[in-house]
Amino acid sequence: MGLMTGREYRASLDDGRQVWISGERVRGSVAEHPAFASMVDTVAKIYDLHHDPAHRGIMTYELPDGTRGSRFYKVPENSRDLTLRRLMTSTVLQEVCPTMDRFGDETVSPLFVIKDRGDLFDRFDPRYRANGEAWLERLQRENLFMTSGNTDPKGDRSKQPHEQDDPDLYLRVVEETDAGVVIRGAKFETGAPYAHVAFVKPTVGSWMEANRDYAVACIVKLNAPGVRHICRMPLLGLSSTGADVRDHPLSARYDEIDTLIVFDNVLIPWEDVIFSREPELAALMRSEFARWAAQGYLTRSLAKADILVGAALLYAEQVGSANVPAVRSKISQLMVFKQTIEAFLIAAETACQPSRCGFAMPNQAIQNAGRIYCSQSYGDMVQHFREIVGGQPVMLPDHAMLDNPEIGADVRKYFRAGQHDGAERLRVMHLARELTSSAYAGRVQAYQLFAETPIFAQEAALYATYDRAGSLGRARRLAGLDQ
Ligand SMILES: Cc1cc2nc3c(=O)[nH]c(=O)nc-3n(C[C@H](O)[C@H](O)[C@H](O)COP(=O)(O)OP(=O)(O)OC[C@H]3O[C@@H](n4cnc5c(N)ncnc54)[C@H](O)[C@@H]3O)c2cc1C
Repeated sequence: MGLMTGREYRASLDDGRQVWISGERVRGSVAEHPAFASMVDTVAKIYDLHHDPAHRGIMTYELPDGTRGSRFYKVPENSRDLTLRRLMTSTVLQEVCPTMDRFGDETVSPLFVIKDRGDLFDRFDPRYRANGEAWLERLQRENLFMTSGNTDPKGDRSKQPHEQDDPDLYLRVVEETDAGVVIRGAKFETGAPYAHVAFVKPTVGSWMEANRDYAVACIVKLNAPGVRHICRMPLLGLSSTGADVRDHPLSARYDEIDTLIVFDNVLIPWEDVIFSREPELAALMRSEFARWAAQGYLTRSLAKADILVGAALLYAEQVGSANVPAVRSKISQLMVFKQTIEAFLIAAETACQPSRCGFAMPNQAIQNAGRIYCSQSYGDMVQHFREIVGGQPVMLPDHAMLDNPEIGADVRKYFRAGQHDGAERLRVMHLARELTSSAYAGRVQAYQLFAETPIFAQEAALYATYDRAGSLGRARRLAGLDQ
């Protein structure tokens, strides 16, 4: 099978998966269900981009046998590959949806780590490296949509996984058999109801011997027996299916459903096991996990910052505030955020580092600092934007009011500004509301803050990758300790 098309992707989801939403089991294919149909359409567009002659060069690359593979899954070999990887992600964001987070390019990166550190994996079990590499090749050829399951429910945060009163609060291995490993527990995952496989792996934690049963990583088919998808509430609720996209330009089209996936004694065949009961590999994966993944997060953060700048310019231009010094100052501050993120991305790429096996990694200290910057500053960006657009975006009528023959004229009259009629303004104001004050806005802010692990874990990664000896040495010399 070659790279999937959008149509093939849609058909592939009709596979008997157990998906539950708003208290009911989804019957039939998720592709047809109102809570998922628009996201399935959105992801299908990404599949079709791989076949579009205008984008094929960025989205795909040549495999050794002359066929095309998805660049989502290509291990970067040099700085040019890193640049192409960034351009691939930004192509999806520009062509499909600038605020979309989960589409697979970022979830694969632990497989790059396995390919890079294969010698270490071989010390535990040679199957691990072979399985990881076989999965990477399959993903490259078929472009399966893979989500990421790291985050367990965790229960009592003061206790280790093995100390919890219910041993399933962190996902664990309950049995190893000739056929494979049996896992039980649950993980949070964005996009799982309309993805193919989940890369399940250990969360942030202390990977001590006592947690051995919890130190498991594997690739799980999302329709496997015993896998149950418990979806969060749709942002607009099931009842608002068919919601007017003029009122909800983001949430009516791009609700990336987050899910608690329950793994109820799921048998994972050995060929899908990346490691089982290996605390040392769990610790390695956590510490090296973000080596390539954070580039995708920074690229997404850049696209979101760009939309905030663009929407601020649009809003200010409509209401005639673009030349007000205080408004210009705020817009300039937004531009600083955007340009800073771009600078982090380009610097990390330009000053890239070789990995253990000679693959190209974004400069780790620069990228880790950029990751913290993005996690910390998205809330500030939204706050600047909110100050620019004022309070009216939270006081809006919907487009049904505009369309109403009795009161539509009032809406047009009082929402008009200068040359911009009420209908045009309402569209922009609703975009501003969605970016600042909707359930969609709240979810994006939470995503920006937490999806790359909490900031304390990101700080630990920066501390580990920063050239501390260099700074320390210069300070010692200045203090007169080393002459
Ligand atoms: C929109 C969204 C989408 C997501 N998608 C995915 C996904 O696809 N896959 C996935 O695996 N995860 C996903 N996540 C989960 C994300 O990885 C977690 O939210 C994140 O790791 C934090 O875990 P938690 O929410 O359980 O918070 P907790 O671990 O409960 O932490 C809550 C707070 O307590 C602090 N805290 C906890 N323990 C410590 C400690 N030891 N030291 C210092 N501070 C501590 C944290 O810093 C944090 O501020 C998503 C999250 C969001 C918001």
